[in-house]
Amino acid sequence: MISGAALHEDPHQRLRIRRFLMSVAMYFLSAVPQGVSLINGISPAWVMYVWAGYAIVFNLGFYLAFRTNFNLRFRDPSLTVAQMVVAIALVLFTQVYAGQARGAYLVVLLIITVFGCFKLRTRQLFTLSLLTILAYGLTIPLVRQVEGESFNLAVEIILWCSFSTFLPFISILGGSISELRKKLVSSNAQLQEVLQQVTELATHDELTGAYNRRYLLEMLNHEKNRTDRGGGGFCVCLFDLDHFKRVNDTHGHTAGDVVLKTFASTVEPLLRSTDFFARYGGEEFLLFLPQTSLEMAQHCIRRIQEGLAGTAYEGLPEGFRITASIGVAQYYLQENIPQLIERADKALYRAKQNGRDRMELASFARPVLLK
Ligand code: GH3
Ligand code: MG
Ligand code: MG
Repeated sequence: MISGAALHEDPHQRLRIRRFLMSVAMYFLSAVPQGVSLINGISPAWVMYVWAGYAIVFNLGFYLAFRTNFNLRFRDPSLTVAQMVVAIALVLFTQVYAGQARGAYLVVLLIITVFGCFKLRTRQLFTLSLLTILAYGLTIPLVRQVEGESFNLAVEIILWCSFSTFLPFISILGGSISELRKKLVSSNAQLQEVLQQVTELATHDELTGAYNRRYLLEMLNHEKNRTDRGGGGFCVCLFDLDHFKRVNDTHGHTAGDVVLKTFASTVEPLLRSTDFFARYGGEEFLLFLPQTSLEMAQHCIRRIQEGLAGTAYEGLPEGFRITASIGVAQYYLQENIPQLIERADKALYRAKQNGRDRMELASFARPVLLK
């Protein structure tokens, strides 16, 4: 088996080369009947040499086109029509000299049509099959010349008629399969998109784009388990925007929404990629700082406060500023997450009481009992 990467580094090109190699395998397989035909003198030797030379030259050409990305210059980079026309021309040529074995070649033409199902539309396949029927019909006088005395017009007409019935039918059937494949590909892409949206909705707040409360609690529980098993400590910071109701009352609810969005987009760039910032509810946000000491958390909060002091809000008067009161709590071993958040909430309450626009550190509620 040829390894995928050896074929091409681009997965699309790899798929095209795989399909092309499938058709090359068919050329190899058809070398067997060709050999039998040669040994038994059914077809002249020169026809077999032309067959082999033609197959080698064209297939080498296609292979090089795929390997050098030359195929990408065409509308259909799979070069489906070109590969089909090359194969059909070769079959039509060899069948002229195939004597009584001619019927076998006609089956090959049907298989070539099926090959087209990978890429062509029903109309393209149908047109190609009509052209093939016509070209095949045009070879009948040549067959007459080659076969001389033994030429049987009735047999040739029966072959041509049955071929002319089956080929368009197969092309329509193949075309339908091709359309189905395309629909499947596009509905898969739609499904992926919807899945992405659902994942986004399940983990993010729609208004601010920050994480939502549920996702953050999930992450917190995960970190708690990690910490309890011996990981570093972590902190949570509960934010509540100060006098936010006034913003709504004075400037309207839409302006309030702008403030919430701007607040989130001001905070997020100031965080590490490993931090989680979520909208906890209304105008409350929860910041989860993994692997962070209380000192580092305070430093982070100061950075956010400085960021807020310089933030402008679209549609709001120049000089409009929003501040936040923040409660910061450091996790202690075996504490559960609701207890941790409650401590942060109490600290936040103190921050409000002590004049807002400030942070307060949560006190340890009870001593840590380690087993
Ligand atoms: P404090 O400093 O004590 O926190 O005062 P506050 O006005 O911020 O507190 P309060 O809890 O009284 O008001 C919060 C307001 O936030 C009330 C609510 O209408 C508003 N709010 C909650 N969610 C949204 C939202 O999604 N958009 C907007 N525009 N306002 C919201
Ligand atoms: Mg509030
Ligand atoms: Mg508030």
